[in-house]
This record gives sequence, structure tokens and C-alpha cells, in this order.
Amino acid sequence: MGYIELNVLNAPATTPSTLALGIDLGTTNSLAAIWKDGRPVVLHPEGKSGLVPSVIHFPPDGMPIVGREARDHAVADPRHVIFSIKRFMGRGLADMRPELASLPYQASESDNGLIQLEVQGRKYTPEQLSALILMRVHDLACRALGGQDVRKCVITVPAYFDDTQRQATRDAARLAGLEVLRIVNEPTAASLAYGLDQRDKGNVAVFDLGGGTFDVTVLTIEDSVFRVLSTAGDTHLGGDDFDQLLAGLARAELGPLYGDELLGDPGFQQAIRLGAEQCKIALTNDPEAELRVVIPAKRISWRRRIEREEFEALCAPLVERTISACRQALSDAKLEPGEIDEVVLVGGATRMPCVRERVQRFFGRKPHTELNPDEVVALGAAVQANILMGGRRDMLLMDVTPLSLGVETMGGAVSKIIQRNSTIPCEATEGFTTYVDNQTGLDFHIVQGERELAHDCRSLGRFQLKGIPPMPAGMARVAVKFHIDADGVLTVGAKELGTGKSAVVEIQPMHGLTDAEVERMLKEGFAHAREDFDQRRAADLKIEIGTMVRATESNLNAGRAGLDRESVHDLEEAMEHAKQACSGSDLKALQKARDEFERATLPLAALLMNNVAQKALMGRKLGDV
Ligand code: ADP
Ligand code: MG
Repeated sequence: MGYIELNVLNAPATTPSTLALGIDLGTTNSLAAIWKDGRPVVLHPEGKSGLVPSVIHFPPDGMPIVGREARDHAVADPRHVIFSIKRFMGRGLADMRPELASLPYQASESDNGLIQLEVQGRKYTPEQLSALILMRVHDLACRALGGQDVRKCVITVPAYFDDTQRQATRDAARLAGLEVLRIVNEPTAASLAYGLDQRDKGNVAVFDLGGGTFDVTVLTIEDSVFRVLSTAGDTHLGGDDFDQLLAGLARAELGPLYGDELLGDPGFQQAIRLGAEQCKIALTNDPEAELRVVIPAKRISWRRRIEREEFEALCAPLVERTISACRQALSDAKLEPGEIDEVVLVGGATRMPCVRERVQRFFGRKPHTELNPDEVVALGAAVQANILMGGRRDMLLMDVTPLSLGVETMGGAVSKIIQRNSTIPCEATEGFTTYVDNQTGLDFHIVQGERELAHDCRSLGRFQLKGIPPMPAGMARVAVKFHIDADGVLTVGAKELGTGKSAVVEIQPMHGLTDAEVERMLKEGFAHAREDFDQRRAADLKIEIGTMVRATESNLNAGRAGLDRESVHDLEEAMEHAKQACSGSDLKALQKARDEFERATLPLAALLMNNVAQKALMGRKLGDV
């Protein structure tokens, strides 16, 4: 019987897992969900909540601790606890100055302009810190799945995240050893969790009040495709501010008892903060609760009763700020409250009854609250992950190469042939030539990595192309083709076009690197990030456009019949613009072209997605759906 068990255990390794996680990487809390038995479910390891506070504690020695335990350390050791790292993603030091003033840790800028936070004498980038959180989320998720190691994932980001912030999120996932299938907007994920993509048409307002941020996003759905019409909000308004109101009450009464100096102690402040949050949460369920500040080490135990009504009166100005943002978002979307068909509440702080009531009154419609507001984004990410995993492999985004691949050229430089994050399978060809007269052979050195010089990259192999007829330098035309198949196997071929002489090698680059190596190499890449960031983004965008062009070209003919003429025309035009943009390296132009192209592909994507969904639904009884 033993070997049968072993077989079962080995199953995930031999048959690639068809599962992918949906991950909500939040400012305050992070969470993973997965598609199971026809619906998304959040993962509860060992029956406990899978919600991971996005908090890291750095003990003087040993490994950093992430999550609940880390948050609990905030009272005893506030200088070595990091909160709200999401705010720093993809940001420079200058952007963050006001924020940093109130934090108990040092921040600096690396030589290349990336922000770094210093804890226990070590410097960390936001990507590295977010990676620690993702690793914890991943670890809990795998435990909840009985030890299965699921590394593919969909990660959500706020709709207002720019390209750099999205890229930083991808990089954090890479550092955590995860493969990002797609980055999805949080409001879109929340709408997917509620199945709103099933509507033919409609406008959705997603109201997201988290721990430290607030945003409201107006989306329109047409044929299962979501489009963001507007987004508004305040990146410094969230549940924490409601806590602060109660903390203010506590401080006003504690001051005369303990003196301002003790009150200013970071540990004391944390204790007040935690007591205030617990009281706020209790007031969600009960009309009356106790506000407590307890610091056992200092023998402090203070309490006071507070009624919900008193709390709500304090909160009213904060709630009104969220409503002004709703007005703003609607006016930007050129819609009236009555034109919103669905309102979705997201974020733990929308559990507060006063928030729910006010939102309902503003939109004149009952918001969706059937799902837990702090789980709904992760659930939606799991829906998206399932679509991506279950859909036709050649049509939807799949694996990407973790590092760039190229060949060494004259002077030890690297000519990158396949850029990192390229979707596989993929293929690219580059032309080379001889550099001395009558040279009859060429040496190829294949390397992997982000650095500009071959000796800084990882060597994957060498091969030679011999038998080139003698001719003057620069006359030989050698095409070098890199091909990565769906399993990640790289084949490199070289062909002299005049004579047809060719040589081929097969290399397995994707599985040879340990996570630590990928991390180190990415870090080295970061060390040069600022100077060539734009270049890299431009290169990445070209690849992305290339992928989209290929996908569009291979699907447009099949989809043409199901699309109206205008959509086809828009798509062809946007594709042409995108191709043109790829001939230059202007980042802004590439971004614009990519965005417009992406928008123009939506009707086709929706059509194809519908076909897939229809196939999946075929044969099921109506009652099942
Ligand atoms: P984020 O998206 O910022 O990661 P969440 O959606 O997890 O955050 O929301 C966290 C916020 O929700 C915190 O301020 C927390 O106090 C608040 N919260 C959680 N549960 C409740 C509750 N029952 N009542 C009121 N606020 C709550
Ligand atoms: Mg959130």
C-alpha cells in the first residue's frame, strides 16, 4: 500500500497543479482564496482564519515574523515592527517623506534611488518586505491545501496603482517564489466575487474602506468585461482613523492619570491603538462596548464604556469624506447615483453599521454585503485565477520566464533575446555576424539574468557554429533563434543564412535556479534598477504588446463573426498603433498604446471567455448554476 500513498503525494509534482491562488495583498490584511467545487473559498489553515495582518516583526536575531504574532509585538517592540508596507510599493523616498516622519524606523534611498527601510541594522526594499508577507500567505494557503505547493497566483492591486506600483507587486511575488498569472484590480475582483460579470450590462460602484485607505471605483460591465470609469478616494483614510477617534478619547482621559511623557511612549500608543480597534469592532455588533487600554508590563489597566451612538457622532465627518469621494467618482464617470445598478462593499471597515447605512442612503440602493467584506477581493482573485487556469492555454496568459535570456556578444556584453516576464511558449530571433575577416566559426555563450555583462549573469551553456565560408567581417548573416516551449525548455539554434549551416542546443533553464538564486539575481537587478527602469519597462511593454498581438492575430479570425464591425476596426487600429509604438522606445507612448490596445481587445476577450464559459457550463443542469 505504501507506494500508492507515495504516488498520491507525488501527484502535484508530476502532473502540474491546475490550481492557482487568488491573493489579496492588502495594506492592513492579506488573504488567499482558491476555486473549489465550483466556487471560490478562502483558505483556513488548520481551521483558523487565513487572514494575515500585513505586519512584520524583526526580532534582534532570527527570522522575521509575519502576521498576527508580529502585530502583537507592536506593543512591546514598536521600533522593529513594520506596518502598511503597501504604501511604499513602487515609490521613491521623496514621495514618502510626509509619511515617514511619523514612522518609528529609518528610511533611506539606495544608490539607485529605490526606497529602503532600515530595521535591526538591515535595509529592506518594499518589494522584499511584501515578499515576506506573500510567503506567509502562500505558506498558510499550502497548509490549508494539505501540503500541496501552489505557486501560480493572481494578485490584486488598487485600481489607482500605476505601472511602477504594479511592477513592484509582481517583483515582490517573484521574490516570494510565486508566479503571477495576472495582476487584477481590487474592485474588479470584488465584482467578480459577486458574479456581476454575468450581467449583460450595468454600472457598479465598489466602495472599499480598508484599514488605512479608502477608494471608490465606478466600473461598467458590458458582455462580461469590466471597464474602470473612474476612481476616487483618499489613501489616508481608513478604519485606522476611526480607531484614532477612540484613541483620542482614551488619551484625553489617560493624560492626567499618567502624564504626557508616558503617553508618548510608542508601546503605550500601540496599546491605545489596539484597545481602540477592539472597541470599534465590538461596536459593530453591540450598541455599547468597553474601551480598554491594558499594558501588563506597566500594570496599566484602564477602561471606559462607550455607546455606539456616541462613537457614530464622532465618526460622522469621516463617513462624510467617503461620501464626497463617491460624489467625485460619480461625477467623473458622468453618472447619477440612480444610474448605479450594483453597489459592492469591500474592506473590513465597511462592516460598521454607520458606513453601510450612509452608503445605502447615498446610492439609494442596498449594497452587496452577502460576502465578508474583508474576503471578497481574495475570493474574486480566485475566480479570475480559475478562469485563467481553466481557459484555453494558448489564449490566456500563462507562465512567464523569470529572468531574461540572451547571448554574450563582443566585449562581454549581453544581448537579451527573450526578456524576463515573457509569456511562454515564446520565440525570438536576433541577427549576428562575424567580427573578423574570414572567420569560419562563431562561439555562442547563452546566459540568463538581468545584468548587462555576461559574467554577472548565469551561464547556461555554450555551443559553436562551424563551417561558415570565409568572407569579410560583418558579411556573414547568422540568425540566432531562442525558443522556449510550454514546459520551459529552451532550445537555441543558430543558422548561417547564406550556407544554411546550422547548430542547435537544448537547455533546461527554468528549473535549475533555486529560489535564493532568483532572489539574488533579481536583487542585483534592483541594484541597477533606477537607471534602466524606464528601459526595462519599455522592453517589458513591447513584450506584452507582442504577446497581445500574437494572441489577437491568432484569435481574431475565429472571433470576427461574433463581433460588430466597429469593435473589429478599433482593435485592428489599436493593434497597428501598438506595433508602431514598439518600433520606438518611448515609455509613455508604449504605455498609452498598450492601454488602448488592451481596451480594444476587451470585446474579443469577452467573446472568447464566453465561449469558454459556455463550454464549461454545457451539460450541467440549470439548477447547478
Ligand atoms: P486592507 O484592505 O487595508 O488590507 P481590510 O479590508 O482587512 O484592510 O480592513 C481592515 C480594517 O477593517 C481595519 O481597520 C479593521 O479594524 C476594520 N475592521 C475589521 N473588522 C471590523 C468590524 N467588525 N467592524 C469595524 N471595523 C472592522
Ligand atoms: Mg483591501
